[in-house]
Amino acid sequence: MMENILYEGKAKIIYTTENPEIIRVAYKNDTTAFNGEKFEKLEGKGQLNNEISSYFFSYLKEQGIESHFVKKISNTEQLVRRVDIVPLEVVTRNIAAGSLSKRIGWEEGRKMPEPIVEFYFKNDDLGDPMLADVHIQTLGLATESDLEILRKKALEVNNHLLNLLEPRGLLLVDFKLEFGRDASGQLLLADEISPDTCRFWDAETQEKLDKDRFRRDLGGVTDAYAEVLRRLNSI
Ligand code: UDP
Repeated sequence: MMENILYEGKAKIIYTTENPEIIRVAYKNDTTAFNGEKFEKLEGKGQLNNEISSYFFSYLKEQGIESHFVKKISNTEQLVRRVDIVPLEVVTRNIAAGSLSKRIGWEEGRKMPEPIVEFYFKNDDLGDPMLADVHIQTLGLATESDLEILRKKALEVNNHLLNLLEPRGLLLVDFKLEFGRDASGQLLLADEISPDTCRFWDAETQEKLDKDRFRRDLGGVTDAYAEVLRRLNSI
C-alpha cells in the first residue's frame, strides 16, 4: 500500500490513501500554543482528540451537518474526505474569554447577548490576525456569500453542540471551525472539533476542561480531555 505524508501540522499528520478523494488523519500527542512557542508532548492526547472529534462529527452528521469526516479507523486515526482548506479560522463565541476578553475588555465568563462569529487568518507569519469581511474579500479567500454560508454553518453547529453539551453539564464557551472546498467547490466543515479547538467549562464549577489548561499551565490537561469524553459518553 503506497501512502505518503501529504502534510504535517502542529497536532495532526495527513497521509494520502489509495483513493485520491480520501486522506488519513493521524492525531498527534504534540500540543502547541502561542504560535508554536509553547510545546509539549502529552501522552494520550492524540487518542482523546481523535475520539472526541469523531464523536462530534458523527453527532453533527446525525443532525444533518455534513463534514469531511468519513470514519474513525484506529485509536488515533480517521479517514476524511480531501478538501482544499480555506485559510480562515471561524470562531463562534457564546461566553467572553481569551482574545475577545482582551479585545473588548469583557471579563472571562460574561455571556454574549447573542452568539457571535469572527474570522481569523490562518497565517503563522502574521500571527493569525482577525480579519474583517473586506480583508477576506481583498485577499480573495472567500466571497461575501461564502462568508454568509460560513456564518450560518458555524451558528448551526453551535446550536447543535449546545444541545448536546448542556445535558452533559458542559458549557461551550467558544470554538474554532475550519472549512474546505470539495471538488465541486462546496464549502464543507473540516479539520477537528476537540478540547484543542473549543473552550469547555464545567457548568457547575466553571472548571476549564480544554486547552487553556495547557496554555495557562493549570496542569491536568489530558485528565480534562478524558473528562470531556466521559461526559460525551455519559448519556
Ligand atoms: N482557537 C483555535 N486555534 C487557534 C486559535 C483559537 O482552535 O489558533 C480556538 C480556541 O481554542 C478557542 C477559540 O478558538 O476555543 C477562541 O480563541 P481566542 O480567539 O480566544 O484565542 P486564544 O485566547 O486561545 O489565543
